[in-house]
Amino acid sequence: MITLTRKIELVPIGDTKEERAVTWKKVAHFSRTCCEMANKIVARHYLTFCEGLELSDGSPKSFTSKELREYIKAKHDSSVQNLGYAITKSYKEVPSYVRAALSNQVFSLFKQDIFDVQIGKRAMRTYKPNSPMPTMKSSLIFKKDNGQVFLTWCKMDFVLAFGRDKSDNRTIVDRILAKEYQLCDSSIQYNRERNKIFLLLSYKQPIAQQKLDEKLCVGVDLGLNAPAYCALSEGEGRERIGDRETLLKPRINIQARRRNLQRQLKFIEGGKGRKKKLEALNKLRQKEKNAVRTINHRISKSVIDFALKHKAGVIKLEDLSGIARDEKSKWVLRNWSYYELQQLISYKAQKVGIAVKYIKAAYTSQTCPVCGNVSREQRQTQAVFQCVNVACADVGKEKNADYVGALNIARSEQYVQRTKKKQKKQADKKA
Ligand SMILES: [Zn+2]
Repeated sequence: MITLTRKIELVPIGDTKEERAVTWKKVAHFSRTCCEMANKIVARHYLTFCEGLELSDGSPKSFTSKELREYIKAKHDSSVQNLGYAITKSYKEVPSYVRAALSNQVFSLFKQDIFDVQIGKRAMRTYKPNSPMPTMKSSLIFKKDNGQVFLTWCKMDFVLAFGRDKSDNRTIVDRILAKEYQLCDSSIQYNRERNKIFLLLSYKQPIAQQKLDEKLCVGVDLGLNAPAYCALSEGEGRERIGDRETLLKPRINIQARRRNLQRQLKFIEGGKGRKKKLEALNKLRQKEKNAVRTINHRISKSVIDFALKHKAGVIKLEDLSGIARDEKSKWVLRNWSYYELQQLISYKAQKVGIAVKYIKAAYTSQTCPVCGNVSREQRQTQAVFQCVNVACADVGKEKNADYVGALNIARSEQYVQRTKKKQKKQADKKA
């Protein structure tokens, strides 16, 4: 099972305009109140934590250590966790299933944060009025009628607005209603700036059961000739995904327009014209981001489809963080959000039960997959690979360079522990 969240807009319904206005007001009020409660709960836990520190002669101790729990029990006649809930009791207008979920969530985040706060790595978390309000799953009552889905929450009625529904939220809701997917504790969010209400719907989805070969790997090489090239670690399976044109065209067009605007901006001192152009520039930035995201979605889907078609249980990607091997890599990294693509592949692979492994990005494009000879000369052009080792059975044979790269990645066993490395990098940056 895997837990996922979807964001769906909620529109208040009611017979009259006044009725709907009451719902809007109530949601806004709940949102403000939850924010206030959350900040008070954090403060309460922090105080308790400091009391715990004093108890232990000032030496850092685990917040949930046994002595502290006993101390709290004796002093406040309550468990550590319930200290937070006790605070919410003076906000009776908010139903208990929202307050309980809120105090649980704030407490678990507090536990996560507190040690980083102690060592000065982060500040204490503060909650804002548009922070999502957690609510128990039992408080969400769905009803399907005439093709529309209605939600009753805290005695308020909403209709789910799916909009253009590009991410197919309607199917997800249908599956939850049919009990194929399991509904989890979710959140309601009120966005004051946009004047919108959202349901952050959490659910558990079973990982698709399919017999995959855990020893068969797909190597994914990213290149200039093809956005991605897949190869199997065994056998001849391979596939070029997308082409250079589709990858570059939207970005290059948008970038040209952006440069043009930036140039114009240089000569405008101020006033309305400048503001308008700045707005246009921001819009273009967003447009470029969206274009890349769409392309990345398409590529990642094709990579997963390739792996499933061959029943491969592992996808291997190059760990490119901090590495720019040559001009080509630098250019690709600059022009294409490779990190986002890797994240999308990981996310989609997890959903179908495929493992994702990162391997060290070193010489994958310069190594002969037959004899293992490494040489820069073997890469005469961008598109062609030719082994120069005279002892190799394939010496001089022209091969598709992208395929060679993908094959080397598929067979590589130089794994990189990605999360730890990333954490270390972030820590180094802060230090
Ligand atoms: Zn060779």
